[in-house]
Amino acid sequence: MTDYAAPANKAPALTTHSDEERMFGDSVRTFARQTIKPHVREMDQQAEFRRELIEEFFRLGLMAIAVPEEYGGSGGTFFQTILAIEELSAVDASAGVIVDVQNTLVNNAIVRWGDETQRKRCLPRLAADTVGAYALSEAGSGSDAFAMATRADSRGGDFVLNGRKLWITNAKEAGLFLLFANANPEAGYRGITAFLIESNTPGFKVGRKEDKLGIRASSTCELLLEDCRIPRENVIGEIGKGYKIAIETLNEGRIGIAAQMAGLARGSLDHAISYAHERKQFGKSISDFQAIRFQLAEMALDVEAARNMAYNAARLKDAGSPFVKEAAMAKYFCSQVAERVSSRAIEIFGGYGFTKDYPVEKYWRDSKIGKIYEGTSNMQLQTIANAILGK
Ligand SMILES: Cc1cc2nc3c(=O)[nH]c(=O)nc-3n(C[C@H](O)[C@H](O)[C@H](O)COP(=O)(O)OP(=O)(O)OC[C@H]3O[C@@H](n4cnc5c(N)ncnc54)[C@H](O)[C@@H]3O)c2cc1C
Repeated sequence: MTDYAAPANKAPALTTHSDEERMFGDSVRTFARQTIKPHVREMDQQAEFRRELIEEFFRLGLMAIAVPEEYGGSGGTFFQTILAIEELSAVDASAGVIVDVQNTLVNNAIVRWGDETQRKRCLPRLAADTVGAYALSEAGSGSDAFAMATRADSRGGDFVLNGRKLWITNAKEAGLFLLFANANPEAGYRGITAFLIESNTPGFKVGRKEDKLGIRASSTCELLLEDCRIPRENVIGEIGKGYKIAIETLNEGRIGIAAQMAGLARGSLDHAISYAHERKQFGKSISDFQAIRFQLAEMALDVEAARNMAYNAARLKDAGSPFVKEAAMAKYFCSQVAERVSSRAIEIFGGYGFTKDYPVEKYWRDSKIGKIYEGTSNMQLQTIANAILGK
């Protein structure tokens, strides 16, 4: 990674890091390489993320990076969150998404829309030991998320929730869920309401875990709600305004997925470069062949562009500037780059790249999710088209 010193009074390059950002990024990179890397293959095979590594995330402050210190968080920036997701995903995209969902979706919604009591009740736990999950999608409503069938009936001051959620990241490990249900179906999407649900609430159950192609160590489960009674004080934001919380958190979350994919691409490029130096054919290192050198150069170009797009969207968000179009562009582009670069890395490894004895096939499997979750690539194109066409 290249960092350039910014001359005084000049706008810095996008890849310029402040001292604090550099130290933070370096510490996450060292942690990922030294502590997570030795377990990546086994966690992928067993489709299970080691609990002690999640405890390390908490210990290092990675589960509440941008949560203010008064609520037990690290008091960092959104950009630092993006750096952490990138560095973790360069080693393991499952690690990246665990931290991504906690920070960019769950903590973010509570910081922005929670009232003071909810912030004091939830954020210190989310910073210390409680994994969070974000439950919007259902079997029948993915891209069309607001067509959800989960209902929240108002009863005696509480809400009673019934329905099912699907594809919920972190569900197996989570103690707290931010879950969307419709409290007024006649009003359509204007009935959607966000609820905080403790995992041990009667009537709430984590169901089947998906057996996935990639990010296998990250849990993805169904949720079942059967007459699940939730007190009114667990509504986040206003009743009927959950759609706004969902849209706005996902707009930000997309930058996290862009960083996950940029990190994944960078990680697979690093492996390809090391292998190209090592591997000898025709009496020399394959990195001496122009065909390989140019492929690596194109991969590096892709990674550089992807990181710049993710960084730009994150910097815009931190600056309070409009970022929705740039976030959609970054997510779309970084997920393309991740798939392309990891695929080319397999080819540079030759036959070895096609086996599970080498790390690159996993990067490619993991890359596929980037075009699917937090809005498919078609949905990102729709956002970009709306922005450029002025809709
Ligand atoms: C591993 C994993 C983790 C996930 N984690 C979470 C989570 O933590 N929380 C959560 O709430 N959800 C989560 N999801 C759900 C994810 O966000 C959805 O899968 C995604 O939004 C797509 O919805 P869908 O699967 O129903 O596909 P569909 O919406 O059925 O899409 C199928 C295809 O049709 C296309 N399509 C649909 N509508 C249009 C349109 N109008 N124009 C053009 N093309 C269209 C799509 O682009 C796609 O190619 C996760 C999914 C996976 C696989």
